[in-house]
Amino acid sequence: MLAIERTDPATGEARDALVADDAAAVARKYEAARAAQPAWAARPFAERLACIERFRDLLAERRDGLAAIQSKETGKPIKQARGEVGATPGRLDWFIQQAEAMLAPSTRLDTPGLTEKVTWEALGVVVNVSAWNYPWFVGTNVYVPALLAGNAVLYKPSELAVDVGLSMGQLLHEAGVPADVFQVVVGGGATGAALLELPIDGVFFTGSHATGVKIAQAAAAQLIPVQLELGGKDPAYAADDVDPKATAEGLADGAFYNAGQSCCAVERIYVHEAIYGPFVEAFAAAVDGFVMGDPAHEDTYLGPLTRAAQIPVIEAQVADAVAKGAKVLRGGHRLDKPGAWFAPTVLIDVDHTMEVMREESFGPVIGIQKVSGDAEAVKLMNDTAYGLTAAVYTHDLARAQGILGALDTGTAYWNCCDRVSPRLEWTGRGHSGVGSTLGEVGIRAFVRPRAWHLRAPQG
Ligand code: NAD
Repeated sequence: MLAIERTDPATGEARDALVADDAAAVARKYEAARAAQPAWAARPFAERLACIERFRDLLAERRDGLAAIQSKETGKPIKQARGEVGATPGRLDWFIQQAEAMLAPSTRLDTPGLTEKVTWEALGVVVNVSAWNYPWFVGTNVYVPALLAGNAVLYKPSELAVDVGLSMGQLLHEAGVPADVFQVVVGGGATGAALLELPIDGVFFTGSHATGVKIAQAAAAQLIPVQLELGGKDPAYAADDVDPKATAEGLADGAFYNAGQSCCAVERIYVHEAIYGPFVEAFAAAVDGFVMGDPAHEDTYLGPLTRAAQIPVIEAQVADAVAKGAKVLRGGHRLDKPGAWFAPTVLIDVDHTMEVMREESFGPVIGIQKVSGDAEAVKLMNDTAYGLTAAVYTHDLARAQGILGALDTGTAYWNCCDRVSPRLEWTGRGHSGVGSTLGEVGIRAFVRPRAWHLRAPQG
């Protein structure tokens, strides 16, 4: 039997030992999904859509209870959990409004003798291995369009967000999705690896670069579609023409919201030398204003880290930076209390010899580096293996577009950061991943085309 010990991230207290699905249990779920998928795909699109509409409505109705489950399990501050659950129905509206048109057959040639058209068919049984940091966002990004397209889904939430994952399954089933068509698979890496040994038809992954590589390797053996939404080391640049205080406050939120545990958190900041002093001062003041504490409290902005194992990673990054000459302006250490707590940390006098400026931190730590101008900013922003998002703050759109266009990044932000829109493809480059969720590509990702060549009978 596979078991996973669970700990409350806010108190460090043991919770329970979760019984995980072993290879045999995973195989049984797969067989049931395989058997149920054709009937689901054969149902009229309107019926599948009606299930997802009910799911959206139930989610909106039960927001507060679902947010409490998430906050308790992951340590996300309750207000931020409510923000995530509360924003999910609006994101589902994109799929609800667009999927039918995106999945409709398309005639490309229609002449008296010859018609050419494309129809879109579900992949079959797809696996979604997911992360814990925004489980509602990153989960629904995958399984909602997958279900609309007629796939069966084996959804494996992170072992750090199992209660959340199980609540998703309950809600989808209550909304009318058949139990075998959407199944929650419980477990950690070993369970995820077992899923990939089955003859599945696609794997959609959200998580770290290291695990993403393993997923891609496992999928290669089966030659199935693979989508990887991975980590980031997202840069922001504040040019010399912006208000340093307003920009610093916006970027402090982008860096520390959800304790920096966002794939698109701002992870490094470059500031034009002309505004560097006032920017750093305002940034530190913004961080001093963040309330850290019990995730269940309404006014808490910073909670614990969900994954305690990230603390030594962050400590090592801070130690490396300090050894190479960085100054700790705020924080720099774990808190002396039970649970996975790390003080919000601001490093200055940083440079690119330091890990903290090039490797994902995924926690409440930021390095701020002074630059001489746009050219140096571009060079440093591109100096990473990741390519998820990048932000430029300036009054000049042409200047921002010039800088952003020179960066190898899937998302480009002008005067904003840490933002996701359901209308826009969410995609990483380099170590940040392969493929897109959301937008139009994020609907078509769950179907394959069939090309029809229809020639009228001759004679
Ligand atoms: P992780 O890679 O540790 O785990 C992700 C999932 O993979 C979990 O469900 C885990 O159980 C599973 N897993 C682990 N080993 C496996 C294996 N060998 N085979 C199959 N499955 C396996 O990542 P995490 O800590 O859950 O999430 C944090 C990471 O996710 C960060 O790097 C973050 O940037 C990234 N992320 C990216 C996006 C995005 O959209 N690009 C969104 C959210 C999070």
